[in-house]
Amino acid sequence: MTKEDKMVSNPPINETPDKTIEQTGESLVLEAENAIEPVREIPIHKLDMKRLIELDACTRCGECLSWCPVYDQDAKEDLIPRRKIMDFLRIARSQNGFLAGIMKSDKVGDTLKGVIAKVCGYKEITKEQVEEFVSNLYECSTCGQCEIVCPAHIDTVNLWEELRRLIVMAGYGPLEPQKALRKSVMTFDNPWQQPRAGRTKWSRRAKKDKLIAQEPREIKKTKGKVLLFFGCTASYDANVKQVAINTINILEALNIDYGVLGKDEKCCGSVLLRMGDPEHKRLFRENIDQFNSLGIDTLISSCSGCFKTIMQDYPKVGKLNFEVLHTVEFLARLLKTGELTFPHPVNKDVTYHDPCHLGRATGGFDAPRMIMEAIPGLNLIEMPRNREYSRCCGAGGGLKAGFPDIQGRMAQRRVKEAEETGATELVSCCPFCYQGLQVGISVSESHIVMKDLSAYVAQSLLGYDVFEKAAKEAEEKKQAKAKKKLEKEAAEAKKKLEKEAEKKRPEENISEAPIQEDGQASSNDKELAGTDK
Ligand code: SF4
Ligand code: SF4
Repeated sequence: MTKEDKMVSNPPINETPDKTIEQTGESLVLEAENAIEPVREIPIHKLDMKRLIELDACTRCGECLSWCPVYDQDAKEDLIPRRKIMDFLRIARSQNGFLAGIMKSDKVGDTLKGVIAKVCGYKEITKEQVEEFVSNLYECSTCGQCEIVCPAHIDTVNLWEELRRLIVMAGYGPLEPQKALRKSVMTFDNPWQQPRAGRTKWSRRAKKDKLIAQEPREIKKTKGKVLLFFGCTASYDANVKQVAINTINILEALNIDYGVLGKDEKCCGSVLLRMGDPEHKRLFRENIDQFNSLGIDTLISSCSGCFKTIMQDYPKVGKLNFEVLHTVEFLARLLKTGELTFPHPVNKDVTYHDPCHLGRATGGFDAPRMIMEAIPGLNLIEMPRNREYSRCCGAGGGLKAGFPDIQGRMAQRRVKEAEETGATELVSCCPFCYQGLQVGISVSESHIVMKDLSAYVAQSLLGYDVFEKAAKEAEEKKQAKAKKKLEKEAAEAKKKLEKEAEKKRPEENISEAPIQEDGQASSNDKELAGTDK
C-alpha cells in the first residue's frame, strides 16, 4: 500500500468531518466498534489460599522451561509456567487491590489517575492481553512435567486447572475449537459427538467378528463386585476399541466377577475438568451416585484419564464407597498373589510410554513394568525419558482440540524417541495416548506399531492375538469363498460346453458320410476324392 493509498483509507484526523455522515446511525456503529471493550473481571477471590501462595511461590528460576514438552514444539516464552504465573498476577493486580480500586473509581479524575499510574507503575490490562494469556493457559497438556521439576514444588496441574476455571467463569474460556467437546459431553455424554446408543455398538460388532466370546456382562444384572469402566475413547473410537476388547478377554480368562454399565455408562467428565468447565461437578455427582448404588468393591479402568479423574478428582466432590484402580494395577495385584500367570510367550522388543495421568499424576510407574517383565519373551527397552520424566504425547488437557498442530508435533517427537530404542512396538496403557501417539506414527510414517499393554496380557493368556486370529480366519473364509466361486464358475462353464457339444452332435452326424454296408465310400466321397487330385 502506497502512502497515498493509506491516506485515502485512513483520512488524517485533523480533516474536518462531514457533518451529515457524523449524524447518521453508521457513524454511531463505527464509534461503538472502535470503543475499547472493557476487560471482564477474573474472579481471583474464588482461588483458595493454597493457590494464592503457589502463585507467589514461583521464584522465576526457569527450570520448567527446559522440560515443558509444549515449549519444546512451540518456543514461545509466554507459554512457560513462570511467564503464565507472571501474566496472571499482572491481570489480577490490574483488577484487584488498593491501586486498582483507585484507578477504577469514578470519583478520581483522569489527571490524578495518570499521575498515580506513572508514579506506581500501574498499567491497565487490555482485552487482547487477557485473551493472549487465555490462549497460552490452554496451550498446555496439563502433563505435570513442570510440577516434577519445580524446586518450589508448585502443584502446577491443579493450578492451571483452577486458573482455567476462573477464566471460564469470566467468559474467556474454553477456546473456540474446544467448545465442541463441551457441547458434545453435555448433549451426548461423550466428547466424540456420538449418539448415546452407540456406546455399546463396539461389543455387538466384536462378538459378531469373533473378537470376544460373549458381550460384556452387565453389572446391574450380575451384581458383580468389580466394575469395568471403559471410558468414551475405548467405546467410540474404532481404532482404540481393541483396548476394550482385550480387557474383556483378560477378565473373562481370569474369571473375574466383573460387570459393565453398558448403555448407562457416561463420560467421566475429565475433559470438562481439564478445560476449567464447572459443569464437570454435575457429571461427577451423577457418576458417583450411580457407582455407589452398585455395591461394588472395586472400579477398574483401562483409560488413564478416566482412572486419574475418578481416583483423584471425584473424591473432591463426593465420597466413593469403593477402591479405584487402573486395570494394570489390578492385574499387578493378581500377579503378586499368583492368581495371574502368563503361560504363553509374546516375543517382541517393545518400548513403554508412561501416560501422564497414570505415571506422574498417580505414581503408577511400577505396575505396567512388572507385568511386562512377567510376560515371557517380552523385551522392554526404556526410552531415555521415562517414568516421571516421560515426554507427554500431547493428547490431554484439551490441547489436542485447541492446538492439533502442536499435539501432532509432540507425538512425532515421542515416536522418534521410541524409534531410537530399536523397539518394533510402542506400548502404553491409555486409549488417549494410543490415539495421540498414533497421530505421530501416521504423520511421520513410522514403522513402529502402536499397542496397548492389554494386548500383550490377552495374547499371553490366550496363546494368540484375537485380532490376528480373527483376521486370519476372515482371510481363510474369504479365500474359501473365492475358491468355491471359482469351482462353481468352472463347473458352470463345463456344463455349458457339454450342452453346446450336445447341440452340435446331430449336425455333425448329418455332415458325416454314411458308411455303406459293403465298406465302399459313397458317390459323394468319390466326387470329393476326384477334386483333390
Ligand atoms: S503441565 Fe506440561 S505442558 Fe503444561 S506447562 Fe507444565 S510442562 Fe508444560
Ligand atoms: S520451575 Fe517452578 S519456581 Fe521455577 S520458574 Fe518454573 S514454576 Fe517457577
